[in-house]
Amino acid sequence: MPTLFRKPREIRNYLKSVRCESKQSIGFVPTMGYLHEGHRRLIRESKIQNDITVVSIYVNPLQFGQGEDYERYPRDLERDISICAEEGVDVVFAPSDEDMYPEKPLINIEIKGLTDILEGKFRPGHFNGVCTVVLKLFNIIQPDRAYFGEKDYQQLKVIQRLVKDLSLPVEIVPVPTVRDPDGLALSSRNTYLSPEERESALSLYRSFLLAEKLFKSGNTDANLLKEAIREFILKHPRVKGIDYVEIIDQDLKPVSEVKIGDRILLAVWVGNTRLIDNWRLGDAKV
Ligand code: AMP
Repeated sequence: MPTLFRKPREIRNYLKSVRCESKQSIGFVPTMGYLHEGHRRLIRESKIQNDITVVSIYVNPLQFGQGEDYERYPRDLERDISICAEEGVDVVFAPSDEDMYPEKPLINIEIKGLTDILEGKFRPGHFNGVCTVVLKLFNIIQPDRAYFGEKDYQQLKVIQRLVKDLSLPVEIVPVPTVRDPDGLALSSRNTYLSPEERESALSLYRSFLLAEKLFKSGNTDANLLKEAIREFILKHPRVKGIDYVEIIDQDLKPVSEVKIGDRILLAVWVGNTRLIDNWRLGDAKV
């Protein structure tokens, strides 16, 4: 069983001895819990590359906006701990809100051109919340490496830039998106979907395959691809709307001519559930 810590001070002291006395490397997987196969993949990467793996389970109120799903976000600490045990996780950190935020933070973290576009535009304040909690967790855990999923591609880019700009002593390791066999990207929010909604949610992955096919047959006009994606997704009965479909380069800048390695990023409402997904163009055989 992993050792469970609730208090930042206690886990910090414990890891200090791991780091200083036993000279063991620490891998860190930050999560909001309700663990699935995607999280397991991150944990396995960490287990391979580090002596000790720490998983945090914390639904961070700061990264949810007014009217978002903070209250209904799925939580099951017991189940999460048994998944961590199955995966051989050494330490679980599950702090309370009072311990993480004894006072409402006054700091505001912005990364110009990264936190104010795409997700940041539709969820104002979201990345401030993400960056604040990740920085706090990095300070508490002080990991050698931290594992982030490409599923949240913009988040990964934001964290990489945060680490670079502030010279944080941690290596960020990206982990590819894990999907169900039918293509749906795993997400704790998938539990919100009814069977009919889940069927419509498959349109996200299928729209990537469509775009890939168009791209492979010589269509490099980003607007054409984006329009094809929109039109395809909107045909599905439970799709309520699309927040954005964008094709971006390595620096998260929108492109007009698509090349191999550019990424489609999108956010779609299926019923009352907001799903995000992304796809690197030029890889798949379609
Ligand atoms: P969350 O618990 O949703 O905040 O996610 C915690 C970490 O797991 C983040 O780095 C996510 O990008 C990553 N993650 C979530 N879903 C997946 C997935 N389907 N495949 C790979 N990583 C994922």
